[in-house]
Amino acid sequence: MTYDVIIAGSSFAGLAVASQLRGRILLIDPKPIGAGQTSACGTLLGVPQRLGLMDSVLQVHPFLAFHTSTETERYEVREQHFCTFDYRRFCEGMAEATVGDMVRGSVQGVEGNEVITDRGRFRGEILVDASGWRAVLANSVRPGYATRTGMSYGIETVAPRKGEGLCFWYDPDLIPEGVAWFFPAGQASRIGVASYAGDGHLRPHLDLFLDSLGLAKAKIHGGYFPWSFRAPTVGKLFVVGDAAGQCLPLTGEGIRPAIHFGQVCGRIIQQVLEGTASLQQGLDEYRAFVRRHRGLYRLLGLLQWLLMRGPVGLVHRLVALTCREPLRSFILRGYVAFADPARLTPLQRKARVDAEPLPLVA
Ligand SMILES: Cc1cc2nc3c(=O)[nH]c(=O)nc-3n(C[C@H](O)[C@H](O)[C@H](O)COP(=O)(O)OP(=O)(O)OC[C@H]3O[C@@H](n4cnc5c(N)ncnc54)[C@H](O)[C@@H]3O)c2cc1C
Repeated sequence: MTYDVIIAGSSFAGLAVASQLRGRILLIDPKPIGAGQTSACGTLLGVPQRLGLMDSVLQVHPFLAFHTSTETERYEVREQHFCTFDYRRFCEGMAEATVGDMVRGSVQGVEGNEVITDRGRFRGEILVDASGWRAVLANSVRPGYATRTGMSYGIETVAPRKGEGLCFWYDPDLIPEGVAWFFPAGQASRIGVASYAGDGHLRPHLDLFLDSLGLAKAKIHGGYFPWSFRAPTVGKLFVVGDAAGQCLPLTGEGIRPAIHFGQVCGRIIQQVLEGTASLQQGLDEYRAFVRRHRGLYRLLGLLQWLLMRGPVGLVHRLVALTCREPLRSFILRGYVAFADPARLTPLQRKARVDAEPLPLVA
């Protein structure tokens, strides 16, 4: 079977690419759309607003709270609120804006223009890897592309406790070289821990954190999220989202980058399909676009390193300074501008979501 574009992975990155395409498109993923939540699903409110996905929003957050071992600081985000959303609703909304076929299957590799899956082989003129940290296609073209170095590992659970604001803990007694979080999402909260060093043994730390909040553990989800930039193109492949290491260091924010880079990637591929650019020009343009964002990754990478290795006193001081003017508004402006939701293309959803609106907490 031959397609114009084949996309491995149908989460944030894959759906963002697909949403910008017309033609014969194939998305391949072992899980149904919206079934494989790994994330706490916190992002800038501007993202679902701009995409027309407000029906997925569970709670709006006007501030972040940073806890260190001794202090708590409040970081106001009144200019650009954050939100937590429902993963399934969000992805289904994005899928409503895509044309093409979806195959439930697992991509195993690529040979020339053929994608090898457990459901057979599919031929595509253009191939996109949006398969998350394992980067299955890119890794098959360039073995060693997806290594476990430069990745955080995180797990979280859900507890029936309400709250306000997105709350982060930087406390080595709770989680060394990492972060713990409490993200209220309507009637419940997502509570997790992550190791910037990629330590996969986090259950005792999650238990400790939950104990400190007087909460019990329920079902756990999570996984790796890369924080070191990987090549955005490999041979003739476009690589997007976590597959390309586009999750931000320090904050672990990967949804907005995956959609930001995914939409641009999709628009560039559409130009190739329309014949206004060659495939090589498309690959070059996408690579150059992604690389223009390197500055923030480097800066956040440095701050993450400081948080892991720096003296506790310095970390406290930095957190406190970040929350006060003039640094607070300066940082927020730069952080938003890196992938400004206002620059996202609103989605053209074909189907109306007929589900009941979610009970939003503001
Ligand atoms: C515990 C945790 C909490 C997080 N919290 C946040 C948060 O609050 N906010 C935020 O912005 N970011 C958060 N992140 C990071 C964020 O989840 C990722 O950066 C984001 O999901 C990247 O999107 P993606 O589409 O590139 O990859 P993914 O969301 O990982 O999607 C990859 C897709 O590829 C599919 N796939 C995998 N293997 C194959 C294969 N062989 N063949 C075909 N398809 C395949 C998967 O099923 C999946 O659908 C968190 C991450 C973790 C682990």
